[in-house]
Amino acid sequence: MLVRINKQEIELPEGSSAKDLAEKLNLRGPDQSLAAKINGVMRDLSTLLKNGDEVELIHFEDPQGKEIYWHTSAHVLAQAILRLFPNAKPTIGPPIEQGFYYDFANLMVSDEDFEKIEKEAQKIIDENYRPERNVLKGKKEALEKFKDNPYKRELIEGFKDGEEISAYSQGEFFDLCRGPHLPNLGKIKAFKILKTSGAYWKGDSNREMLTRIYAISFPDRKLLKEYLHFLEEAKKRDHKIIGPKLDLFSLKEEGPGMPFIHPKGMIIWNRLIGFLRQLHDKASYVEIKTPQILSQTLWETSGHWFHYRENMYTFSIEERHYAIKPMNCPGCMLYYKSQAHSYRELPLRVAEIGHVHRHEASGALSGLFRVRSFHQDDAHLFMRPSDIKHEIMSVIGLVDEIYSTFGLPYRLELSTRPEKSIGSDHDWEIAIAGLKDALDAWGQPYRINEGDGAFYGPKIDIHIKDTLGRSWQCGTIQLDMALPEKFQLEYMDSDGQLKRPVMIHRALFGSIERFMGILIEHFAGKFPLWISPRQVCVITVADRHQEYAHQIASEIKKAGFLCDVDDTSESVNKKIRNAQLLQYNYMLTVGDKEFEKRTINLRTRDNIVHGELELKDFISTIEKESATKSLTSAYAKEEANA
Ligand SMILES: [Zn+2]
Ligand SMILES: [Zn+2]
Repeated sequence: MLVRINKQEIELPEGSSAKDLAEKLNLRGPDQSLAAKINGVMRDLSTLLKNGDEVELIHFEDPQGKEIYWHTSAHVLAQAILRLFPNAKPTIGPPIEQGFYYDFANLMVSDEDFEKIEKEAQKIIDENYRPERNVLKGKKEALEKFKDNPYKRELIEGFKDGEEISAYSQGEFFDLCRGPHLPNLGKIKAFKILKTSGAYWKGDSNREMLTRIYAISFPDRKLLKEYLHFLEEAKKRDHKIIGPKLDLFSLKEEGPGMPFIHPKGMIIWNRLIGFLRQLHDKASYVEIKTPQILSQTLWETSGHWFHYRENMYTFSIEERHYAIKPMNCPGCMLYYKSQAHSYRELPLRVAEIGHVHRHEASGALSGLFRVRSFHQDDAHLFMRPSDIKHEIMSVIGLVDEIYSTFGLPYRLELSTRPEKSIGSDHDWEIAIAGLKDALDAWGQPYRINEGDGAFYGPKIDIHIKDTLGRSWQCGTIQLDMALPEKFQLEYMDSDGQLKRPVMIHRALFGSIERFMGILIEHFAGKFPLWISPRQVCVITVADRHQEYAHQIASEIKKAGFLCDVDDTSESVNKKIRNAQLLQYNYMLTVGDKEFEKRTINLRTRDNIVHGELELKDFISTIEKESATKSLTSAYAKEEANA
């Protein structure tokens, strides 16, 4: 028989499996293949092939490969737990972005048990089972097989009648599962328990609390070592720890998911917004502010009332229903409609730094990353179809300027028309061509996610990568064919006809709160001078230097920098240490010598001593550093050049 792989036809004997194909190709060593996608469906490597099958071999490097790898490892975890704690009841155990977890009822474990569990998991891996697929005869057999586990039974009850129910076995362990799995457990070369936590069954706080065990596994011990190092680094950078420590923001029980931004945090905030407004001015945007609360009728027009209501905070007063805005768009549509428009005004670029509220489940909230109250740097661009390419290019230009300024490499992804969509073929063609032409003209490689666009238009997502190599989706450029229609937006074209404008939503930072969180982690709290909430600290050697220290500070403040004085009676070393912990970019020590010569003694937060300097030289150096939004200290550069 003939099968196709990588656009190549391969001859195989009848009865060959995907594994045989991998062995025959031997391209990367047959052991590297974990599973196979056969005619678009993920299957076990042991699946038999048929003539004409289209096959793709899946490896650990592929996102789907990791999924299978970690999914199989979750079974190993459950098997190990059952051997050690026979009364535990396994519930579900999915792969996640990094590793996997398994939730158990009837189980109490602590950190001391981790080693024991890992040892048992290793034993199971060494036994090198081949997970075997069993198709059960309907719900009846499935319920019988799992009669001792009410959680699995509840899952089985949820299957549709006639739907295939499969279970997998490895050794004595048997689990309800769709598959696919690794061909044999020996492929797991490193297995590590990471942590435990509580989790509600089905994520429902009215149901039982289960014990969740997080773990990870790799095909190579070296990869595990790298991952553990990454975790350590990430912990050091955690914005939920650094943020309160540097007094940037806090989260309170009285407003779950609604961050309080403190004065030092507001300094960063205002620098970000100031930077954005400068860019907006250069690119000819106007800025508006629309109300926080708008009536039900508006949300009905926009469709949010029908499709987004469970995420909205709604209430009624004087017998009218209202919602706190979850998005800025409808407000901007009303603004557009407040006057008649001519083609001469287009493209019209309307920005709004809007405060939005979206209800998220309590369990999903996380620091500044998942919140219920946040600000978006939104803009809505209204244009003629012929403007699309130019406008998209100009937005990509802003994206480039913003992310390069923070040293965040980014990549662009274009999502095209999904199966279910509104709008004519003609409109979609123009829209996608506009986005594509802009991306091509921009000249950087980009990915296309076919069919991944919203039902109302194609979009470009911006993914950034931080210092630790983690990816974040921040900005987005979304073409929208629905809202202009729903709100009946119009402009008078040059031919005297009233036409509907094309509208693009665009956000660059995305959520400003979240972007701040990303920056805190990206810089590990060591902010570049221009956004740093603590720029300079003057430190006195003795009480007699207080007056001089304040003179210096006032000169620095006059130059436009943030400068504090530590003139407490602590030891100099202690004061330097404190200033470093608070991540002041520069520390200036002043003692007798500096006072007499009217100089300062400079030290950076990385504890590099630069010695005695004239104050005016210091100020002019940091002025340059700040004006160029430099990512590194001007003095670090000096050192590197020396
Ligand atoms: Zn499974
Ligand atoms: Zn919008």
